[in-house]
Amino acid sequence: MLLPDHKTKIVCTIGPSSESKPVLQKMMQSGMNVARLNLAHGDFDEHRRRIRTIRSVAEELKVPIAILLDLPGPKIRIGRLPREPIMLKPGDMVTLTTGASTDEPGVIPVDFEEFPSLVSENSTIYLADGFIQLRVQRMIPDGAVCIVVIGGLLSSHKGMNLLGASLAVETLTERDREGLAFGIAEGVDAFSVSFIRRAEDVRQAREYAESLAPCVRIIAKIERREAVENVDEILAEADGVMIARGDLGVQIPIEEVPVVQKRIIHQANISGRPVITATQMLESMTEHIRPTRAEVTDVANAILDGTDAVMLSGETAIGSFPVETVQMMAGIARTTEEQRRALAGGGTCEEYFRRGRGRAGMAVGDVVSLNVIEARDALRIQYIITPTRTGSTPRRISRFKPEGWILSFSRNFRTPQFLSFSYGVQPFFIQSEREDWHEEIMEFLKASDVIAPGDRVLFTEGVSPGEAGTDSLTILTVE
Ligand code: ATP
Ligand code: MG
Repeated sequence: MLLPDHKTKIVCTIGPSSESKPVLQKMMQSGMNVARLNLAHGDFDEHRRRIRTIRSVAEELKVPIAILLDLPGPKIRIGRLPREPIMLKPGDMVTLTTGASTDEPGVIPVDFEEFPSLVSENSTIYLADGFIQLRVQRMIPDGAVCIVVIGGLLSSHKGMNLLGASLAVETLTERDREGLAFGIAEGVDAFSVSFIRRAEDVRQAREYAESLAPCVRIIAKIERREAVENVDEILAEADGVMIARGDLGVQIPIEEVPVVQKRIIHQANISGRPVITATQMLESMTEHIRPTRAEVTDVANAILDGTDAVMLSGETAIGSFPVETVQMMAGIARTTEEQRRALAGGGTCEEYFRRGRGRAGMAVGDVVSLNVIEARDALRIQYIITPTRTGSTPRRISRFKPEGWILSFSRNFRTPQFLSFSYGVQPFFIQSEREDWHEEIMEFLKASDVIAPGDRVLFTEGVSPGEAGTDSLTILTVE
């Protein structure tokens, strides 16, 4: 059995550039852990096809790959451009309209009926994560005539931000409900929900999802100011969070993004929930074979901040070098992880529990996870073995970013799949009824040549009767 050579999880958005079998094979072999499908782009049939290809390639290669379905939420987007991309230059006049589509140059369709009521003369309109900026010159029936202030290349279905316009719409749209039903029918492993404001929004999504199937994993995308402010209550309700820096960088001043990223990662680590850092991580690799120094540094810094996963969007969905981008990401991860301990300053999650505010009110599971780290470091033990029902034990250990692998075993099919989001966790599913299943895990690891007699491993287990969860740690010498 081969363990990957990096512990940071890599989420890849799958689109036209990466949907073929050979490309997916190479991406998985290069270190991809999660396939993300964005429902804002492409229809259900396309995504269904992609889901099936991803599953079949993962099965062939015997790699645990989770599928994340991204629900678009109440995001206003432009519609389909008859010819794309189009180049907008400063001073150009364009017409945004919710009316019937036309081939006329300079006319951009908008996918949102209420659009004209949300803008007025002089409103600023941001397109494509704020890259393009327009100002409304005058209103017309069904739309607005605008002047291009900051130009750029625009393609179909790019998002639109209207600052200050309060969307009366519900966070969970009809399209999202359809997306949840679709994803559940296709057996995807998790959903990311867009434009979350507070915990209640996550609850709504979960309630709807769980009316269709049990145990649905929900990742809250943090991209609004309210969500940043309410991140603690959101973390308590969601299974994980994504720092969606694209919209976030328009919704809050862009210069606040780095600090907000660090805070959210720290909070997510403390709560033992996986956190994904997303958007533009290796953006220039969409078109070039080499990234910029700034991008490489951004990926490394997110890892040092304590992110569980790093994400690729357009780079792998529509880029020219999807495989090379994954290889680059994996290389940065590997190199950075080797230096993590040496570079870690104060303010880490471990610090928070050892000496900080987290000291009060620790749960049994927190104490066990901290002791795992202590024992691992003191004895230089390579593997931490965690049998788990829900995945909370490996997640609690993962937040401390140990140097050794966390080998996690579950009999519950859904649990290993979601552990594909957590740093340094290699998930295994063992379908068995055996009473001595701890013995079975050890046999499996010996048979896979991961451990050999004489090796020392760390083993967590629940020994108290009932459903008490993991409450003990054993240092085992393999027989
Ligand atoms: P979000 O804000 O939800 O992330 P987005 O529009 O920024 O939405 P990403 O998923 O970040 O989209 O992907 C980046 C770009 O890659 C998209 O804007 C789109 O141009 C392209 N893309 C992604 N998935 C697809 C797809 N399935 N088909 C075509 N293009 C896609
Ligand atoms: Mg985006």
